[in-house]
Amino acid sequence: MNEFSLIRHYFTGIGVDDPDVALAVGDDAALLHQAGEGYWAVAADMLVEGRHFPVQCNPALIAGRALRVNLSDMAAMGARPRFYTLSISLPKADTGWLQEFSDSLQRESRQFSVSLVGGDTTAGPLSLSIQMIGEVQKPLLRSAADAGDDIWVTGHLGSAAAYVAKGFPDAAADDFAFARFWQPEPRIGFALQAAPHIKAAIDVSDGLWADLGHICERSGLGARVEMSRLPFHAQLRQRCGDECEQLALTGGDDYELCFTAAPGERDSLQKIAAQHQLPLTRIGETTQQREQLCLNSAGKPVPVAQGGYQHF
Ligand code: ADP
Ligand code: MG
Repeated sequence: MNEFSLIRHYFTGIGVDDPDVALAVGDDAALLHQAGEGYWAVAADMLVEGRHFPVQCNPALIAGRALRVNLSDMAAMGARPRFYTLSISLPKADTGWLQEFSDSLQRESRQFSVSLVGGDTTAGPLSLSIQMIGEVQKPLLRSAADAGDDIWVTGHLGSAAAYVAKGFPDAAADDFAFARFWQPEPRIGFALQAAPHIKAAIDVSDGLWADLGHICERSGLGARVEMSRLPFHAQLRQRCGDECEQLALTGGDDYELCFTAAPGERDSLQKIAAQHQLPLTRIGETTQQREQLCLNSAGKPVPVAQGGYQHF
């Protein structure tokens, strides 16, 4: 049983049928009706030492990444992040470690204008879970794509996966990939401004192919992606050569946005991306036929190595 069927089977439809729950399990965040117009968007992401990052990592980096991956889910909903809780399990109360962690949390929280409002602390193996709460008027749902939409991605793909594949080198050994893994850029500003032009959106946490698959599944569509259009950093091409495309397709952890929009929105989207100095690439289109294809320059389907990262 994989991660997603496990969630569907054991954690979906629990509780009462509450009209204030606009959207429960299955998207980047849940949506709860606010008293006025709009919604609260609620998302949680957990990081476990030895699973999401190697043992004995710098606490400042861990704090930053934990916050940013949660902020990215807010961006994927078109939500403005506001508040969060932090639940943390610590092997010991090491004050040096905790001060570094806390200083970083403070810096990052101020940078993204969010406040820590609660949580829980226990002794145990190092793991941390952040629950982020944001506000949104027009949510970007995974289920909102239409056939014939353009498929877009922000930034570059595959760099964080290359970092993980190299065994998490330190910054001195590899500053290019280091920042992409430890300090992903939640695309909040872009998402908020571009939301009126976007239909469906997701953030690329498990790999483009898998995450685009979630949009396709929830929208009841397929997709055609042109391999030659996949955006990766020039430095990634230099070091990974022919592996770049597969890294860009299946490598997770980049936390870029993948979204769909009507073809008539191309100019507006590119203008907004330029204002945010954000590369924005149109990589393909959604299709009525429920099949996800990656095409080479001759228009022939190429196999995609694996379906992206999954626990279990
Ligand atoms: P993301 O990659 O955007 O963080 P996930 O793939 O982790 O999303 O989760 C998919 C969906 O399943 C989300 O809507 C998430 O809230 C939900 N989910 C995951 N684990 C649980 C759980 N233990 N209980 C309830 N919902 C869960
Ligand atoms: Mg997500």
